[in-house]
Amino acid sequence: FQTDGGTLRVEGLRVAFGALVALDDVSWEVNPGEILGIIGPNGAGKSTCYNAATNMVQRTGKVEIDGRDVSTMPASRLAALGLRRAFQQNAFFTHLTVLENMIAVIQPQHGTSLLGTILRPLSEHRRAVHTRQVAEAALKNMGIPPEFHHRLPGEIPYGTQRMLSIALANGTGARILLLDEPAAGLGGEDMRELCDRLLALRAGGMAIVVIEHHMDLVMQITDRIVVLDRGRRLAYGTPSEIRHDPDVLEAYLGR
Ligand code: ADP
Ligand code: MG
Repeated sequence: FQTDGGTLRVEGLRVAFGALVALDDVSWEVNPGEILGIIGPNGAGKSTCYNAATNMVQRTGKVEIDGRDVSTMPASRLAALGLRRAFQQNAFFTHLTVLENMIAVIQPQHGTSLLGTILRPLSEHRRAVHTRQVAEAALKNMGIPPEFHHRLPGEIPYGTQRMLSIALANGTGARILLLDEPAAGLGGEDMRELCDRLLALRAGGMAIVVIEHHMDLVMQITDRIVVLDRGRRLAYGTPSEIRHDPDVLEAYLGR
């Protein structure tokens, strides 16, 4: 599964909620075929990084996609550029099947575009079949087996639900994926499966950012790591640099 991955660069992000400075001068970047990890204790500002990067919260600082300043672009246009986000809690249409959820996400790219209709005069039926095939392939790509496609999201195993939320964020046309604690609540087997899927996406060229508490996972699959502490960037480097960083060691072990 090849992806035309993108580069996301944030520079000097600052977010304040009243007197609370949730993010203070935070910069990082992720490139095609890379996984960036964001770690730090609860309340460090990890999720706020995503809100700031997707223009979903008032902030100062700069956001660039492929070198283009998108700092003031609405979230919907960022999504069209391939910047996609999966939330900390699973967000599904609970009364639609797994497959219908997937179709709902990819629908705008397939079949409703006027240009597409003119250039590819498929019948309604053929277009629906095509959309369905694309949705099935996208689910399969995240390891969601066909026997779950016609179940409601609430009926499938929790680990598969987490995969579904990534598949839905991915949709079609994702180039940069922002995942907020994708491994939360997963057991060992599901965690390995998740790692394999993320590594496969990376190998295909996707740019991925993961917020994650499981240090083993972060150390294993990321290319670079941002450590946040009370809104500030405590450290930024490769897993082995982070592992040996004196500030990180003190913050995590020295107290
Ligand atoms: P993390 O994801 O690292 O656990 P968050 O980014 O969610 O942390 O939050 C960082 C800080 O900002 C926390 O102190 C949190 O309470 C605060 N915060 C986050 N969102 C809001 C908001 N919408 N209004 C007020 N405070 C917020
Ligand atoms: Mg969070």
